[in-house]
Amino acid sequence: MTCSAEELQKRSDGLAASWQACLAAPGTDLLLEFAVSLSSFTEFLHGKGLSGLNQVSRSLEQQTLALLDSGTETPLPAGTLTELNLRVEELGTRVSDFIDGQRRPVMERRARSVDPSVLDVAPRHSVWLVGSSGATWQELALQLGYFQIDAEFHQIRNLPGQGDEPAIVLLNAGSLSSRQTVEQVQLLRGRFAASTLLVHELAGDFDSLRAALSAGSDFCFPAGTAQPLILAKLIELCSGTQEAPYRALVVEDSITASKSIQRTLAICDIETLAISKPHEVLDCLAQFQPDLILMDMFMPGCTGVEAARVIRQHPEFLSIPIVYLSGDTNVPLQVEALRLGGDHFLTKPYNPVVLNAIVQSKIERYRALRRAMERDSLTGLYNHRTSKDKLAAAIQQARSVQQALAVAMIDIDHFKKINDSYGHPMGDQVIRSLAWFLSQRLRKTDVIGRYGGEEFLVVLPAADAPRAVEVLDRIRHDFGQIKHPFNETWCTAALSIGVTQLNEGDSEQTLIKQADEALYSAKRSGRNRVVSWQ
Ligand code: GH3
Ligand code: MG
Ligand code: MG
Ligand code: MG
Repeated sequence: MTCSAEELQKRSDGLAASWQACLAAPGTDLLLEFAVSLSSFTEFLHGKGLSGLNQVSRSLEQQTLALLDSGTETPLPAGTLTELNLRVEELGTRVSDFIDGQRRPVMERRARSVDPSVLDVAPRHSVWLVGSSGATWQELALQLGYFQIDAEFHQIRNLPGQGDEPAIVLLNAGSLSSRQTVEQVQLLRGRFAASTLLVHELAGDFDSLRAALSAGSDFCFPAGTAQPLILAKLIELCSGTQEAPYRALVVEDSITASKSIQRTLAICDIETLAISKPHEVLDCLAQFQPDLILMDMFMPGCTGVEAARVIRQHPEFLSIPIVYLSGDTNVPLQVEALRLGGDHFLTKPYNPVVLNAIVQSKIERYRALRRAMERDSLTGLYNHRTSKDKLAAAIQQARSVQQALAVAMIDIDHFKKINDSYGHPMGDQVIRSLAWFLSQRLRKTDVIGRYGGEEFLVVLPAADAPRAVEVLDRIRHDFGQIKHPFNETWCTAALSIGVTQLNEGDSEQTLIKQADEALYSAKRSGRNRVVSWQ
């Protein structure tokens, strides 16, 4: 679980309070407030990867929104309230059960061995493989182990008691009929509130997939999916990084209006900055670095459209979403506003659930676009240019807080041989698994970039060269143990690593050159080793 039980309980209590207020004075105003809280709770569960709870909450949200949309009379009819109350209680019970399981004393839960020498690595994740026989899973379990992922095999009839909640449950539907698959998915969904639920060896037709997804699974692998692809998905799910909070800049001359917008967005944990003078917008964009601008249409001395056109003159702000807010429903004006650099038009008074949904979906797409520009498509790591930018920023940061900084260049040994013996796609797979491996084993604060073909740049804040050598040598050793599957056989790959540390006067180029020289010396002295720059 990636959030604390306390945090989940607090959120759940907030939702319950909002529902109680609605029950005390049932009307559309308070129902709308409840819908906003529910929407925020659903997003929260989604963000924390609590997949089962998220599904229950999302379905309740849909039901509530449908009720609002149907122009329900005020006060709300008793029958409607009773039905909704049952659903809210069901969600509350699922959340409490989950929290109870998490709070059980650690002694009661099955002990896991923790190797004290790897305390610098990311926490271990666990995957439960559920099926009738464990034999087919052994290789997958072994490979997952190298990525710090514990795999356990369980039979559906023999699942351990409540309280153990793996990150991922993978059901093998190979020997099951369609009906049995749906039943087992429902059983697992009911049992695991937080886990991501995957189904493997499923018939690939539309009806089977739809039935398994509707029953509560998050992702399905049709029969015949190659094991490396399943491994890839499991690793991807376990290495989910925590995203920085979304940020929106509100440009609005009315303080009352901007306070109300800020309050609405805060419910969904969107950070905001409000300014009332449009001519301050460029400075604010540079400093606050928002993911979206909410722009009032009419402000003294400058319209929202004029401000949007100014913003779009700057290449770095060409793609930031701009959503207009206006009391005017004049269609030609809206069309003109959208033509001149806006992305969406919302008329006041706005529905808070809709405002949050629009802001979130626009920010999600904007972030995806930014990711595509900053990241390498094969590995998802920072690309060459961004890695260098991140190194420069890390140097500045290290100097300002007077901390050490280590830099490493990692290169796969005799990589050409892998390409030549097994083909380019296999080479790609090895590169990808090194990327995942580094992401799993290094800290969230470390920078990991794909510097070139099979060469990676790693920046370790608050670490000096000897510490970096220690951490990277363990990584080198363990990566060398991984069997990269290829048809019926497999191959291994070794790493050479050059390490250096920040000294006074060093620039980003100096550090890269030193790490490169150390890497070259590692290659020359026999490969498969870590060398520190002298
Ligand atoms: P050394 O131990 O000295 O590092 O030997 P090497 O064979 O790993 O090094 P070399 O630099 O000679 O070859 C690297 C090869 O990596 C050459 C290039 O074709 C291949 N390569 C570069 N990018 C990719 C990629 O994205 N995918 C695959 N499959 N191969 C790549
Ligand atoms: Mg105004
Ligand atoms: Mg190489
Ligand atoms: Mg190379």
